[in-house]
Amino acid sequence: MALIFDIKRFAINDGPGIRTTLFMKGCPLRCVWCHNPEGFTEKPVKMYTKKKCIGCQSCVEVCPEKNLVLTPDGIKDLGHCIACGCCTDECPTLALEMAGKEWKLDDLMAVVEKERQVMEESGGGVTMCGGEPLMHADYLCEVLDELGKRAIHRTVDTTLFASAETVSRVAERCELFLVDLKLMDSEKHRRYTRVPNEQILANIRMLSEMGKRFWIRIPLIVGVNADDENLNASAEFLASLPTKPDVVNLLVYHDVGKGKHARLGTEYNPDTLAMKAPSEELQQHALSIMQKHGLSAKIGG
Ligand code: SF4
Ligand code: SF4
Ligand code: SF4
Repeated sequence: MALIFDIKRFAINDGPGIRTTLFMKGCPLRCVWCHNPEGFTEKPVKMYTKKKCIGCQSCVEVCPEKNLVLTPDGIKDLGHCIACGCCTDECPTLALEMAGKEWKLDDLMAVVEKERQVMEESGGGVTMCGGEPLMHADYLCEVLDELGKRAIHRTVDTTLFASAETVSRVAERCELFLVDLKLMDSEKHRRYTRVPNEQILANIRMLSEMGKRFWIRIPLIVGVNADDENLNASAEFLASLPTKPDVVNLLVYHDVGKGKHARLGTEYNPDTLAMKAPSEELQQHALSIMQKHGLSAKIGG
């Protein structure tokens, strides 16, 4: 069973209409700008928010591994956590939280069904997101099949970093894909995300040849991919596809990952990576490049 690390209700940027978005844990990529680093691994992870901590030490006392100590800088993790969750269960202020838990299909559907009316009225549905949902294809297909039986619109938000067979299996079970297109140069793609992009581009082409509906999402990050060379190459690639994306969403970079890394105790410094949000002018320039290639495009999701 895969882990879900977040459930977002009333989501308006994860596909058409108002949606419930389910975040599956585990991702083969490590995008340096990732907004959800708590979704990297397939196991539960502990997150600590110092400003919520009242220093009661309940977590220190309950930890079976003696892994936590209270310091002047708050609770410190000594590095041998087994993710048992005892400390997060005891924490009275939610300063310590566990990201990632198993959900039985019935329980997940009970959450989704609560939003049925708003989903139906808005033309929305459910979006499976991550992490990388294709990493858990069996569980993903099971959830998608169940949503299909309930006539709920299904969107899968993915990198498409998976085998063609997996992508085809999932394509049979969803109405729409949201696909990330991060960098056209494979070496740069590897440098910033840990993996090359050939398989991703081949899978986008395969979906297009199947006539599958898809949206493309390009994060616009100065210092990484918001240069003319990459934007033109992205637009040329998309314009060459037999079925074009419904829309290209240009997503403006935000430094959301920074706070999450601090809560996870992992390293991230956007300044040393020289990543910046694009100016308004650059956003419009990127938009015009997409439009010049005959693509429907917009800023934001
Ligand atoms: S999750 Fe378990 S092992 Fe890890 S710090 Fe908390 S109590 Fe200790
Ligand atoms: S139990 Fe929570 S509030 Fe108390 S010291 Fe630990 S993290 Fe802080
Ligand atoms: S693919 Fe998405 S979830 Fe995975 S590391 Fe990149 S931004 Fe994060």
